Order: sequence, then structure tokens, then C-alpha cells
Amino acid sequence: MPLYDSHTIKIYNSLSGEKEIFEPITKGHIGMYVCGPTVYSNVHLGNVRTFMSFDMIFRYFKHLGYKVRYVRNITDAGHLENDADVGEDKITKKARLEAIEPMEIVQRYTVDFHNVLNTFNFLPPSIEPTATGHIIEQIELIQSIIDNGFGYIVNGSVYFDVHKYNTSNEYGILSKRKLEDLIHNTRALDGQSDKKNPQDFALWKKAEPSHIMRWPSPWSDGFPGWHLECTAMSTKYLGDYFDIHGGGMDLKFPHHECEIAQNKAAKGQDPVKYWMHANMLELNGARMSKSTGNYINPAELVSGDNDIMSKTYNPSVIRFFMMQASYKSVLDLTDDGLKAAEKGFTRLMDAIGLLDTLTTQTTSSFNVSNWNQKCYDAMNDDFNTPILIATLFDAVKFINQIKDGSATVTKADLDLLTTTLNTFTFDVLGLVNIAKEQTGTDKLAGAVAILINLREEARLNKDFALSDKIRDELAVKGIQLKDGKEGTTFTTN
Ligand code: AMP
Ligand code: ZN
Repeated sequence: MPLYDSHTIKIYNSLSGEKEIFEPITKGHIGMYVCGPTVYSNVHLGNVRTFMSFDMIFRYFKHLGYKVRYVRNITDAGHLENDADVGEDKITKKARLEAIEPMEIVQRYTVDFHNVLNTFNFLPPSIEPTATGHIIEQIELIQSIIDNGFGYIVNGSVYFDVHKYNTSNEYGILSKRKLEDLIHNTRALDGQSDKKNPQDFALWKKAEPSHIMRWPSPWSDGFPGWHLECTAMSTKYLGDYFDIHGGGMDLKFPHHECEIAQNKAAKGQDPVKYWMHANMLELNGARMSKSTGNYINPAELVSGDNDIMSKTYNPSVIRFFMMQASYKSVLDLTDDGLKAAEKGFTRLMDAIGLLDTLTTQTTSSFNVSNWNQKCYDAMNDDFNTPILIATLFDAVKFINQIKDGSATVTKADLDLLTTTLNTFTFDVLGLVNIAKEQTGTDKLAGAVAILINLREEARLNKDFALSDKIRDELAVKGIQLKDGKEGTTFTTN
């Protein structure tokens, strides 16, 4: 029996505004789409947080035995400045400023994105489609929207008719906005005069002569609208109705609202059963964002090459910091917060390191099965990682008590404790045990420590010939042992 059969997960669905019992459309299978990055610059840590939230969710589903198809796209065209329908393409603009090909920009920042994800121990998605690789699908989708009467063509561009759509559907269903309010609050931007109404959005834009990234279509040489790309890529790989669509909170409107409208207009059907939105990362109290300059790049945080934090932080400490907050809460990144996370993370790793050394008894003074259930309960309650981590610390306390002799554990309970702790810490939260992740230098230190211990034993046995031999032969290899009050240390040259 798969593990998921004995668990009921509740997910906060942004569409209903309620926590709902999660029932996949097809038993045992989950289709999940998450809006990926627009690869025009290095991802900042805020972007990483959103993707990390969904990485954790993906990991938990996999742990429960679901077959998950996780699609996370790369936006490599069509995302205009200010997320609007006018202005320059973000990628083209960067390419123009650097006088290189747009695809060089795409390549550079896609590589950067993948490097960052590797740094933070992300699992790769099942499919990572690019917008430019799905132009044909997008053209077909636009044609269906036009055929169904929800798209109109003006001067080679195609727009979605929001007002027409709203007569038989509810535009604003996800973001809880009303079209009347939008009408009062949108100002007409220059260059939008082609539109019947300012609320309409572009499905296809005719390219100006200077616009490099362009494709032929029945309407003009041009490029697709940003919202349309995600509709095309999600439904191509997950079907017209799929389980989960995720992204950052800031994408709810207009991006996700438009995705719903496009799918309903093209296929007559809501695309998504559960909409999930990850909340924003702040930096010292203000939303992290490229445009305001209030951001930090992952590499700068890990290397310490920044003026914001007092020290370097291991990627797993940063991941632990993020996991200490619910994906639905705003999280403020601060130096103090990271320092506290570092302490917590180290305590957790230390306790896990003790597991192998514990001796077992005939009784347990802690209900390990109950604790194991609490770990699952936390995750089943809309992926409540802060509660999960607090529960893991109940085990940390218990392990330390076993070690100092104030608690006991049976062999069976110790086994369950070990597998549960490892599962949630490493498989689900995606943390990496720094002690086990040895670099070349760590390995050398480990090997020399063994020789130092052997030398110590030889001395205790008064085998001075052997102890001197170890010291001298290490010296020949460039490793000097130094005996001091605190024990023996070594230096290398
Ligand atoms: P973009 O590359 O701008 O399309 O953004 C990629 C993803 O990062 C989107 O899902 C955004 O919602 C998300 N995002 C942007 N800023 C933040 C932030 N400060 N905190 C969390 N997620 C963010
Ligand atoms: Zn998207």
C-alpha cells in the first residue's frame, strides 16, 4: 500500500480561499506546474524562496509515493518590462545593453539559475519547458481563443477580450477582484490604444522592426504574451485540467488570473484544481526585488561577498532558515535570523550525528510512534514546515537525553527515530548534512585525525618507534604535527 493511502493532506487553495482536502484528479498521480524565472538576470534570493517552497512540496509528494509530474518553465521571451503589454522585452533589453544576442542572455541566466538550484540542493523538475520552444502550441491556443470569440486582432496583434469573457465568466475569480473596480483603477498606458479596453491583455504582439525575438504567425511576425506561454506549457504537459498550479503571490494577478481566463476561453474549462501561492521574501523589512535594488543574490550570501550580512552562511543554513517559516507567510531575511538558523541547524545536525552512537534499552521514555505521526501531521497540514521543525527538535532533545543517560530508547524506537529524522530532514526539507558533505580538505583532516589517534595509542603503549614513525612520515608528506595542551593539531605546507 503506498504511503499516500494513509495520509490526508490539506492544501490552502487560493481559488477558494480555504484549506481543502487534497484529492488528485487521477489517484496516485499529481500534475504540478510552477511559473519559472524570466532569465534576464541572476535570480535573487526571493525568487529562490518561491522555488524552494515548491521543491519542498514536490519532495513531500514523492516521499508519500505519488507519481509527480512537476513542470517548471523557463520564460525566455515575451515578458515585457513592468509585467505589462507595452515596453521592451526584458531579455531583449538586457541583450541590447550588452550588445549580445538575446539567446546569450537566456543561456547565461539559465545556467546561473541551475547553479543556484544545485547550490541549494533542489530536485530537478520532471520537465523544464521554454517559452520559445512552444511557439506553435501558443499560436494554436490563440487561434482557439479567437475562434471562440474571446480574442480580437488589431494591427497584427491579438488581444484577449476581458469584457466579453466577463459576461459569461468571472474575471477576477482568483485574485478576488471585480472588473468594475479594475475599470475605475486602470489608467490607459501609451501604446495600448489598440485595445478595446485597458483591461484586455495581449495574446500575441506584432514585433516592431527593432524587436529581435520574433516568430511568424497568422497575424504578424511577432511574439507571444507572457500569460499565454504558461497556459500553453502547463496544459501541453499536464492536460487541460491539472492538480496544482503554483507561483509567487505577486503572480496571482494578472498573470494567473489571465491563465484561468485563457484556458476557459480556449477549452471551456478551469485549468487548475488547487492554486498555491508562495509568499514573499523580504530583506531587512522590505520586499526583495530587483527593481528597487533591495535584494541579495544567493552567491553573495553564501560567499559573504556583500555589505548586508556579517558573515558567510552555508546553503543548508539558508534553506533551514527558509523552512522555519510557512510558505504562506512573509519572511524577512536578516543577519540575526540567519545566525539563529545556523545555531538551530547545527543542533539538528549534531543530534543526527549522535544517532549511531546511542545505546538501546528495553524501554523507551518517549513515544516515538506518536512523534513520527506528529511529523506527518505537520506536513499534511498544508506543508507546515515550522511545526515540522519544532517537532524534529522534540527528537533532538530526546537524543541528547539518551546521550546523557536521562532517557532511554528501545532498538525498534531508535530505528524509527533514525529513519523518520533522516527522511524529514534530508529527503523532505532537502537539507544537507555539512559534516558528511566533505570537501578535499575535510577528508584530509579526517585522515590525519585517524593517524593522530593511532600515534596517541602507540604512545600510550609506549611504542615510541611507531609514534615517531607516524610523525616523521607525515612530515615527509608535508604535514607537521604539533603537540599542545589541547591535543595534537597539524599544519600543511
Ligand atoms: P520572475 O523571474 O520575476 O518572473 O520571478 C520568478 C518567481 O520569483 C516568481 O514566482 C515570483 O513570484 C517570485 N518572486 C519574485 N520576488 C520574490 C520575493 N521577494 N519573494 C519570493 N518570491 C519572489
Ligand atoms: Zn507563469
